[in-house]
This record gives sequence, C-alpha cells and structure tokens, in this order.
Amino acid sequence: MVDRIQSIRGMHDILPEAGAAWSWLEATIREVVESYGYQKIRLPIVEKTELFARSIGEVTDIVEKEMYTFADRNGESLTLRPEGTAGCVRSGIEHGFLHNQLVRIWYSGPMFRHERPQKGRYRQFYQMGAETFGMEGPAIDAELILMTARLWRALGLGGLRLELNSLGNAEARAAYRDELQSFLRSRRDELDEDSRRRLESNPLRVLDSKDPDTREVLREAPQLLEALDESSREHFEGLCELLSSAGIEYVINPRLVRGLDYYSRTVFEWVTDALGAQGTVCAGGRYDALVSQLGGRETPACGFAMGIERLLALLEAQDLLPAPAVPRVYVLSQGAAARREALHIAEAVREARPELGVQVYCGEGGLKAQMKRADRSGAEVALILGEQEVVEGMVTVRALRGEATQNMVAQTALLAELLRHCPMDQEGR
Ligand code: ATP
Ligand code: MG
Repeated sequence: MVDRIQSIRGMHDILPEAGAAWSWLEATIREVVESYGYQKIRLPIVEKTELFARSIGEVTDIVEKEMYTFADRNGESLTLRPEGTAGCVRSGIEHGFLHNQLVRIWYSGPMFRHERPQKGRYRQFYQMGAETFGMEGPAIDAELILMTARLWRALGLGGLRLELNSLGNAEARAAYRDELQSFLRSRRDELDEDSRRRLESNPLRVLDSKDPDTREVLREAPQLLEALDESSREHFEGLCELLSSAGIEYVINPRLVRGLDYYSRTVFEWVTDALGAQGTVCAGGRYDALVSQLGGRETPACGFAMGIERLLALLEAQDLLPAPAVPRVYVLSQGAAARREALHIAEAVREARPELGVQVYCGEGGLKAQMKRADRSGAEVALILGEQEVVEGMVTVRALRGEATQNMVAQTALLAELLRHCPMDQEGR
C-alpha cells in the first residue's frame, strides 16, 4: 500500500458537516458589519516578510518564532500572513485610500502562525477583523466595541467579558517602559525565562506573560494606566463614558497589553472563561502610529480581529450551532425516461422553492436501495418517478418523517402538494 499523505500539524480541514455552522457564522458577521457601513477588503495571503517585521514588531512572539517565512524563487523573503492589519495598512498606503478619508473596512480569511497546536490554537486559523482609519476621537473605538457586542447578541452568545486598557502615547509608553524595566530587573530571579529575556528587549511584553510566577510578580508592578499622558487619559475616559452610556459593561484590566507592538492608547479584548487558556475570542485597539511607521502619512487608526474557531467553540459550548443543512426533498427514479423526468422535476421545484433543497439520486441502485438513501439523507419528502408515473404525467409523493403516507399526484399539482409537506416559514420562504 502506498503511504497516505496527512494534513499538516495544526492545519485543519473544515469538513462538510461543519459547513452549516461556518456559513451561518460568516453570514451573521457580514450582516452585522454591513449594518455599520463597513466595506469588505480581500488581500493576498502572502506579503513581503518586512511588512510584518516592521508592523508587528521584531521582539514579539509572532515575528520571533511564529511566522511561516520562505524564500520566493527569486530569493525574496515572503511570509504567510499571521494577521490582517498589516496588509490592510499596506494596501491603504499603496492605493491611497487612507489619506484624508474616513475609512471603515473589514476582512476575513485564514492566518498562519507556527504556534504549539492545542485546543483553540492552530497553525492555520481563521480571523474576521475590522479596521478604521482617519478617526481620532473615542467614538470610533466605541463603535467597534458596539459592533462586536451586537454580533454577540445576533449570535445569541453570552458570557463574554469586555476588558479594556490604554497604552498611552509613544512618550508615555517609553517612560513607563523604563519604570517597568527597573521594577522587573529588581525581581528578575522570579521571572520565567522568556520574560527575563523580554525584560531587556521589550519589557511591556512581560505584562502579557502567561507564566503563573511572573504574573504573581506583576501584581506589584507599576501600572500603565497611572503613567498615561493627559490626552490619552481623556481619550480613555471618553471611551469609558461612551460605553457606559451605551449600556456596555466592561472591566479595566491594567495588565492588558496585546501581543503586537503597533497598538497605542485603547486596547480591548472580549474574553470568556469557558474555553480554558485560549479564552480571548476578539482583540483589538488603536494603532495611531502604524500608518506612518509603514511609510504613509500619520493617520489615526483603530480595529479588532476575532478568532473564528474560538467563536465557534464558544457557540458550541452554549449549544447555539445550527444543525448541518440537508435537502428537504429527495428525488428517486427508475428507468431511463423516469431518470430524465426526475431531473426536470427537480429543476422545477428548485425554481419555485429554492429554499427547500432538492437532491436527485444519481447512483445506479434500484428503487429499494434509493429509498434507503432517501431515508438516511434526512429529507422530509421523497418524490418517486417510475414508468407508470412518467406515462401518466404523475409523481408519487412520500412522507419520510412521521406517518409514512404516500400518494400519487399530477406533476402540475406537485408544488401545492409539497407546500402541504413543507410549509413556508414565517418569512414567507
Ligand atoms: P493569544 O493571546 O491567544 O495568543 P493573540 O494576542 O496572539 O492571542 P491576536 O493576534 O490579537 O491574538 O488575534 C486575534 C484573535 O485571533 C485572538 O483573540 C484569537 O481569538 C485568534 N487567534 C490568535 N491566534 C490564534 C491561533 N493560533 N489559533 C486560533 N485562533 C487564534
Ligand atoms: Mg498569540
């Protein structure tokens, strides 16, 4: 036997049975973001490595050890995108749609990070994200958070907690960085290895550590919120006020920093306790310096990204996922003429009632074998065409659920008969 080729560790097939849940989630996301006037952008999955190194930051988990980087055939270093923001900014600068405009865009698609695979953490995973440009005040931060809150409501999700923090502007962060660094140096021996290294290269990232001993030390660390510059403080207070007046509950988490360097001022996460260590479903914030850092003119910016797999896991835990979609009508036939007729009738039903879903048996089995398939398909009604039906212009309609009734009707009366078996839902479909 030849060896079977397996998928790559941490990269999963999304199988057909999960299709309905994914489609429903994607459709709901789209409805919500479009109701806020966001336009979808579709960008390449591969970008120049330098784009991510310059935006995400050299001393971050992603750039240090998680990127899928390879040399193109001409020797240029390329990377599979680990996140979506850098590409949006690159595109905005390249096509000039950021400057002097108020921009609201969104994206969705696969991202790639070479992390240790575990539940809720994969090497290819899907994100949906929104990015806004040109708006400086806290109203847009609030809008993005309101939009995510509306999505949770549209999905029926509960149990998500909004955590907020502000990182201040670049100067405030630099001053705080020094203060934090001297504190951490004084407690160096108590830190985990990664944090000891980061303490020198990027001490803010230590705040993000998941190591229990390091977290213990951090409880006594100086707090970023106390070091905020005046205008960032106003911005943060403005945001808190807008959220309160919109009825959005939040908790201020002074240790929330986010794993990417480009954030400034507002950072936020939607967190659940129901998914273990991988509890952040959605994360975002402001990145006012990124556009100029990538060569554009200074442009305020704010956005978020959410992990689709984590969202689905949470929906599943709350039993909110729709059942797999199955056709409600199954068409059986016997004989060449009936087979032809079966295709016509199926097309006619699809034309009139596209929401039903019609499946035609296309195998080689006899009627008995076909009936078994029809039963197993989950359909509610079987349409049976034999020689007699074809000659007489009739079709046999058989109920597959509940009481097994069967009657032959004229093909011209089929739609009315189907309506009896599969009534329209309240939306008139
Ligand atoms: P974490 O702290 O969990 O590693 P992060 O800070 O690296 O997350 P972001 O880069 O902000 O995450 O990505 C936004 C969201 O994308 C996360 O909140 C999470 O829901 C999802 N996400 C990030 N990395 C992965 C992954 N490897 N597998 C699945 N989902 C992920
Ligand atoms: Mg991460």
